[in-house]
Parts: sequence; C-alpha cells; structure tokens
Amino acid sequence: MAMSAAFVTVLVLAWLKSPDPALATRPSSAPAVEPADCGRPGGWAQAAQANAASLDTLSWPLSGRDQLGWEIYEPLAEQQVASSCPADSPAFAVALERWQAAHGLPASGRMDAESFETMWIAMLRRRPFVQAMRLGCPPPAAASQLELARPEETYGRQPTIMARREALAAYRSMLAAARAEVPAIRSDPEALTIVSAFRAPQADGGDCPAGQACFNLTRAACSVHRTGRAFDLYLGAAPGRDPTSTADDNRLYQARTPAYRWLVRHAAQFGFLPYAYEPWHWEWTAPPSG
Ligand SMILES: [Zn+2]
Repeated sequence: MAMSAAFVTVLVLAWLKSPDPALATRPSSAPAVEPADCGRPGGWAQAAQANAASLDTLSWPLSGRDQLGWEIYEPLAEQQVASSCPADSPAFAVALERWQAAHGLPASGRMDAESFETMWIAMLRRRPFVQAMRLGCPPPAAASQLELARPEETYGRQPTIMARREALAAYRSMLAAARAEVPAIRSDPEALTIVSAFRAPQADGGDCPAGQACFNLTRAACSVHRTGRAFDLYLGAAPGRDPTSTADDNRLYQARTPAYRWLVRHAAQFGFLPYAYEPWHWEWTAPPSG
C-alpha cells in the first residue's frame, strides 16, 4: 500500500483538475463534545462498532489503488469531524453524521469510502502548496530567506538544516508549547526534532536518476521542501524503519504517538498543516513577509 511521493503528487494533481469548492471547507475548530461524553449518545452503538471494524477493513481508493483501513488517519478524522472522541465511540459517530450531512453525503455516522475520500481530498486541498501547484512548481526559497537550525533542534544533530526564517520561528514556538503541555514530548529530547526541512531543487526527483531512491527517499518531481516551509519532524519509527518510511506499520506507529496527536490538535495554531499521508511532514502556511 505504500506509495512514492511522486505517485502521490500525480494523484494530487489529478484531483485538482476537478475542483469542488464544497470540499475545501475547513473543519470547525471547537470539538463538538468532551471526552467524558464519548460513550454517552444513545442509539449510536452499532455505528460505533462499524467504525471500530472499518478502521482495519475499510477499502477506499487512492488514485485507483485500494487502501485498507483508516486507522493511520484516525487522529486527522477526529479533527475533521470536530470530535474529541475516538473513532470507535458513539460520540464520534454522531460527529461524523453531522459532518457527512454538512458535506452532502449520506449521513449514517459510519465511515464509508465516499466519506473518507471526501475527507482526504479536503485535507489535501487545504495545503497552500497544492493550490500553488496549479501554476506549476513554485520557486525555491532564496538563501536570504533561510535560517540555519541549531544542531540540537535537529534529529541526529545535523549541522546544515535550514528553513524559512519565519517558519523556523513558528516551529520553535510550537515545540516549546508541545514540551510544556505533553510530558512524553518534554521527556524525549528527540521528539519533534527536525529530520529535514529546506531541500534545494537539485534534491527533487527530477535530478534523481530514474529508478533510484536518492538519499533513501523516492523524491517528488517538485517537493514542497524547496520552499523552506516544510518540516519533517521526528515522531519515532516502527522497529527497523526509517523515521520517514512510508511503510504502513511505520505510519501507524507514528499516528499513535502523543506527539502526533498533539500536532493534529494544535499545530494549526502555529501555522502548520499536516500532509495526511506522511505523519512526520508538516507545512508552515503563513504568507511570506518578503
Ligand atoms: Zn517532508
């Protein structure tokens, strides 16, 4: 089920050719219910059971390829339907039913392929980079716009990681807040350190010899990393996996971490949006100041 970044880019562009403004709506910011009420709503037990099962079994298409299950994306789905409750709870079913109705979908409270695909596309279209790609690959950040991260801010104490100055400042504020609020992040000096940020256009797939995974990555033909706004953050890794491995077991491992769940809830406050397929990848979205 793992896909290359280039494949995903092709997929995004295919979706952009058939825009549907109704899909670009942002999720409401306030959770609809409190966690203590997750099991309370009556009459939704069967929908909750169906959602619990579909986490592993839902078949949904991604550019013609069947994907199995949506547990990797469960934290994002909670946020999309404005629920504080897990997908196997009656309260999530209620929130999903409300979200389905608002998006003109059959309102069953059960996650189905159409609902999940709609949710997926809405998340992709929120990314400014995806919008910018309508006009072609955006230019890279200028050297004068970039700032060097401190080695201790990077995974493996890398000395040459750079990002846009404003994005790096936003990252620092976000990390401070995450450490203040989440003990598991505070106690792990590597948690949310920067694995990668700015990458020069030469690092894009266009300059990667065909058939080779340069630097252990299968490169997109035009990567958002050239803008200096994209950060790959360390969320740990499944046994034997690289921190940016797209293997399902790795992405599921990361999706379950307190750090990822915190990012899904709070990163937008600092200007960062997720890329659903890669839990580690976050993009700073505030406009450039020049
Ligand atoms: Zn990335």
